[in-house]
Amino acid sequence: MFPAEFDYQAPTSLNEAIKLLQGSDGAIKALAGGQSLLPLMKLRLASPSTLVDLREVPELRGIRSDGSGVIYGAMTTYFQAIDSPITQSKVPLVIQALRQVGDPQVRARGTIGGSLAHADPAGDLPAVALALNARMHAVGPNGERDIASRDFFTDMLTTALQPSELLSWVRFEATDTPRTGTAYVKHRHPASGYAVVGIAAVVVLDPNGVCQEARVGITGAGTHAARAMGVEQALTGQPFTQAVAEASTHAAEGLDLLSDYYASAEYRAHLTRTLTLRALHQAGQAAQR
Ligand SMILES: Cc1cc2nc3c(=O)[nH]c(=O)nc-3n(C[C@H](O)[C@H](O)[C@H](O)COP(=O)(O)OP(=O)(O)OC[C@H]3O[C@@H](n4cnc5c(N)ncnc54)[C@H](O)[C@@H]3O)c2cc1C
Repeated sequence: MFPAEFDYQAPTSLNEAIKLLQGSDGAIKALAGGQSLLPLMKLRLASPSTLVDLREVPELRGIRSDGSGVIYGAMTTYFQAIDSPITQSKVPLVIQALRQVGDPQVRARGTIGGSLAHADPAGDLPAVALALNARMHAVGPNGERDIASRDFFTDMLTTALQPSELLSWVRFEATDTPRTGTAYVKHRHPASGYAVVGIAAVVVLDPNGVCQEARVGITGAGTHAARAMGVEQALTGQPFTQAVAEASTHAAEGLDLLSDYYASAEYRAHLTRTLTLRALHQAGQAAQR
């Protein structure tokens, strides 16, 4: 399959990239790792008139810590994030999840910014972004703005970004604080490897095992990634070990559940509750080490 004809631009600065996207109603598209966009173009499900390749834009690169968080340039590839000592020490949840994305080729080319901006309902990183209280930094013709992860994923393949805005970096809250544990648990689709349901969990306990904070991001189950607010509320302030099973029963509440030949809405709801319990168990154990 071949894509429809398109123009190609390769800007060498963020300003230049923004200018090229200016006035775009979606016909001019940014190109990051191409792991989602190019298959869509080959299937003619997307036919942009112009691709703006972000590979040569230096402002979109780099990984750094600001103490309580880690900032990833949008063009950071999955492998770069996984291999970074900053990721390993500050936000191991990113590694726990990204190791489960696609195959080595996808992890070599796919980018953090591309995954978040694409907002695939079965993508792994959106759940992680929610559990790590991510802040997305958008740049467009009207300036810059920060978007909280909870406001970012608005619908299937849809985010709060405007068509002429670029995601320039994302900041994940660090979890290298005492008695904090994280886990990512995924039920892979047997054919595609995408998440039928994926759960990202962060748990903070006090010295007596009482849950001070729990953050749970869900992907795959619904039209877009979402926080499991009912679970988080049921756990916070409670003895973790005693409360976790009942709290997990709230995991599918409020989700706009997907249904397909592989997994009905009912099965997805079941998986969501079961994998939430599993992810919370793992995160709770890590918090007690
Ligand atoms: C075989 C295969 C298996 C896969 N398995 C998984 C999996 O298990 N889990 C998973 O999560 N994903 C999986 N993926 C998808 C992969 O993670 C993609 O890399 C990711 O979804 C998109 O990232 P990208 O950098 O390739 O973006 P691209 O494909 O280049 O772009 C995707 C979309 O985001 C937009 N975009 C890109 N960067 C920006 C930016 N900085 N600002 C604004 N808009 C931007 C583009 O315009 C486009 O609309 C798989 C892909 C393949 C081909």
